[in-house]
Amino acid sequence: MSCLTYLSIGSNRGDRLGYLKYSVERLRLILKSLAFSRIYETDPVYYLEQPKFLNAVVSGYFSGTPYELLNKTQEIEDSTGRNRSTSISRGPRTLDIDIVLFGNKVIKSSLLTVPHPGLKERKFVLLPLLELNPVLKDPATNTKLWELLIKLENQGIYLYNTHGK
Ligand code: ATP
Ligand code: CA
Ligand code: CA
Repeated sequence: MSCLTYLSIGSNRGDRLGYLKYSVERLRLILKSLAFSRIYETDPVYYLEQPKFLNAVVSGYFSGTPYELLNKTQEIEDSTGRNRSTSISRGPRTLDIDIVLFGNKVIKSSLLTVPHPGLKERKFVLLPLLELNPVLKDPATNTKLWELLIKLENQGIYLYNTHGK
């Protein structure tokens, strides 16, 4: 059985667009019926002294457990040279892939929290996510995600024009 999953992808170090494109090509090999949102350029929200991010959301059907998906996405992050051990928490990274939703599963373990805990407060996740599917709900609370999005303050999210890039 396969499960429809939504992944948030982001990069703010090196060839940001190149890393996003690379991650889509790698994800294409593990997800069926891959779809992706437009790309947004976003101001950093937690650790502010770092370059702007490029963010997008990718969806597709995964055959396996959420933990298997986490392993595969971390392997893709690692292959971009992302250094986990020395990097600042939520600091600059070549590629970050977060599991935002995994079907309607609600998971709270030391390795994995799904829906991703940042979902409700992050416009850079909600906006591209709702672009892919405007009727999504938070499976933990049944709240409509667009209702969460419209409550958030401006967070500096700009559509990224890839024309000619
Ligand atoms: P944030 O999760 O707040 O966006 P981050 O992406 O910078 O922060 P990382 O350093 O990439 O955090 O990941 C730390 C750990 O978070 C991972 O090793 C993983 O075990 C755990 N984790 C928990 N829930 C998730 C999830 N839904 N998707 C990806 N990783 C998760
Ligand atoms: Ca993240
Ligand atoms: Ca992450």
